This record gives sequence, structure tokens and C-alpha cells, in this order.
Amino acid sequence: SHPDFQAAIPIMQQIEAAGFEAYFVGGSVRDALLGLPIHDVDIATSAYPEEVKQIFKKTVDTGIQHGTVMVLAHGVGYEVTTFRTESTYQDFRRPDSVTFVRSLAEDLKRRDFTVNALAARHDGTIIDLFDGLSDLAAKRLKAVGDPQARFNEDALRMMRAVRFQSQLGFEIEPATLAAIKAHAPLLAHISVERTASELTKLMLGIARNPAWGNFLETGLSHYCPDFADEDLTPLLELNPARLPSAEAAWTLIAQQVTVPATKLLKDWKQANALIDIVTRTLRVLATSTPSPWMLYQAGQEAIETLIAVRTAQNPAFDANSLRQAYAQLPIHDKHELAIDGGQLITAGFKPGRQLGQILNRLERAVVAGDLVNDSTVLLQNARTDEALS
Ligand code: ATP
Ligand code: MG
Repeated sequence: SHPDFQAAIPIMQQIEAAGFEAYFVGGSVRDALLGLPIHDVDIATSAYPEEVKQIFKKTVDTGIQHGTVMVLAHGVGYEVTTFRTESTYQDFRRPDSVTFVRSLAEDLKRRDFTVNALAARHDGTIIDLFDGLSDLAAKRLKAVGDPQARFNEDALRMMRAVRFQSQLGFEIEPATLAAIKAHAPLLAHISVERTASELTKLMLGIARNPAWGNFLETGLSHYCPDFADEDLTPLLELNPARLPSAEAAWTLIAQQVTVPATKLLKDWKQANALIDIVTRTLRVLATSTPSPWMLYQAGQEAIETLIAVRTAQNPAFDANSLRQAYAQLPIHDKHELAIDGGQLITAGFKPGRQLGQILNRLERAVVAGDLVNDSTVLLQNARTDEALS
């Protein structure tokens, strides 16, 4: 019924016409049944990758070694993945090589949680081999099969459990939760990037607090960079409202730990752009009444991050005053200054270090409201400045 599924139906019909099976699988089926917006529609098929490529005119080998072929139809790409098993797990991680199979049941069996192991035919019929529908109705995350074995195979699934708990607002079923507690140390085998991606999603979910509680109580946090010796329980006291950004999430974490923020974020392999914004935000957070110059230096994104952090700490935080204070800065960027180095040189100033210092003083004075941002005013001021020095 969903338009994204509708558009993919002809693809599935074409696969079936060639004599193979095709189903919607994974997160899109789960989310559609929950009435949530769906991200990407995943199609699973009994056709092997080479067979999929023969059925369609336009395909791209996006992840052919994992059995995924992207089928291009009317400008849209659809990921079609061959049914597969992951029989040989090494080092508690997902295997590098997979075995393609013809059976849907085999494919569903290797999936992590029952609500993620549902399949749908293009007519909407649901294939539910592991009681995923009742778990969906009960808002329950339950491992497919023996939870101990499943976390032993792939330790990332433990982080996925708390991540989905937060995103969906589900409970983790007791035996599954017990298995996470028992296997938490295996998380140390998972790459930081993958753990970080799950942790960020956890922090941004609708049920962050209960999920964060489980992240700590199960011991998962102990096997994460820089968290082992930290008390992370105060984060549970934040306003439970959803956080708007990864930057806000990581600023809150950075404020809570004793290691320096840059070390924390580098250890967690965060992007430089995020590190930059978090660092700017922390700088403003460190002052009670930030000056216009501080707001200016922080920039729009850090101001928004700051508002998110302060609001999480105190729902009554006056975000509008801060937003206004920032909006009312005379300029928001060096390029908005009414005069630049070139113009000063044309006016007779010598290029060099001193010129840079003059420009910097003008920038500060304009931001502080001590000088009007007007080229004549600024040039005159620069002249006095130079004469004095
Ligand atoms: P999202 O909304 O985040 O995309 P999703 O359920 O689609 O959620 P994906 O990571 O996109 O999650 O994975 C798609 C499907 O693949 C899952 O629903 C699940 O069936 C299966 N899956 C993904 N990762 C694992 C894993 N580590 N172990 C077992 N099955 C997995
Ligand atoms: Mg997905």
C-alpha cells in the first residue's frame, strides 16, 4: 500500500516472471507495519546475483560480493539481494563471505531480531516464521533463535538491540537482554565505526533513556572507547525529549566524561566536521553569559547545538533569547566585514602581519557593536589604528 513499495512491485513481478521468488524484507516491512516512515525498501530474492543482472537491463554492482545488485528503474535504484546464509562467523563479527541460497527461510533465520525477520509478498501477504508479528504488537525485541548463539556470532547485534530499543521504543525481551549481559565483552571485537554508528542512533531515538540505561546496565558501555571508567548515569537525568542532532548527542557525552572531548571523539572515529562543531559548542558552554564575540566565533551550527544541549539539561531554557542574540550580531562571517585586505592595501596599507591584526581588530569591534560595519568608518578607524601603532 505504501508508495515506496508500490513503485518496487514491477521489479518483483519481473523477478517472479523469470521463475524466482522476491520479497520485501528487513526494516521497511517492520516500519511499514508500525506505520512509521520507511527509508530504503530492501528486496530479497532466490535469484543469484548473475541471474538478477540477466533479468534487468540496467543494474549496478553495489555490493555484489554480499549478493546485492542495484536495479535501476525509472531513475530509482532498488537494492535486490540474493537469499543468503552467514554460516562461518569468525572473530565475533559478520563474516566477509556469504553463501547464497534458494530458500527464504534460510535467509530470514540469519537475521537479528524477529521484527527484522519479516518478509512481505508484493500483494502484502506477510511471511512470519519467527512470530515477529506478535513481537511487533508487543513492542518486543527478541533475537531470532538462541540469543546467546546469535550474539556470539555477531557482537554488533547487541548494540543494534539497544539502538532499536531507542528508535522504536520497544523493550528487549528478557532472554535476549540476559544474553547481551553475558556477551557484552565481545563488543570489543567490533570496529569502533560500527559501534559509534549504533550509539549515535541510540542517542537520537525516541526512547533514549531506557536504551541508554540498558547500554550501561548490560555492561556494553564498558567495552566502548573511553567509557569503562566513567559514570554515564547522569545522562539519564536529561530531559527525555528527542535530541535533534549527532552533534548535540556527542556534546552531551563529551561533557559527561573526564577525557578531553577531542580525544573522546577521535577515539570514537567521529568526523572532523562533528568534532569541530562539538568543540565550538563546548567552548560556549563553558561560559555563563557568552559575549557576542563568542557567539560569533561559535557559528550557527554550534549555537543550535548549544540550544539542544541546554534544552536537554533544562527544558525551560530560553532558546529564543540565544537565537535572537545570535541573529542580531552585526555580521556572522568575516566576509561580511565592509572592508577587506585588498581594499586596505589599495588605500595604502602595507601587506603583512600587521594588516591581518588590523583586520582582526575591526572584525572584533564590528561584532561587539563598537564600530558600524561601514567601509568609510572602518577605513578611518584602521588609519588611526595604524598611526597609533
Ligand atoms: P534501519 O531503519 O536502520 O535501516 P534496518 O532494520 O533496515 O533498520 P539495516 O541495518 O538496514 O537495518 O539492515 C537490514 C536488515 O538486515 C535488518 O532488518 C536485519 O534483518 C538484517 N541485519 C542487518 N544487520 C544485521 C546483523 N548484524 N545481524 C543480523 N541481521 C542483520
Ligand atoms: Mg535499512
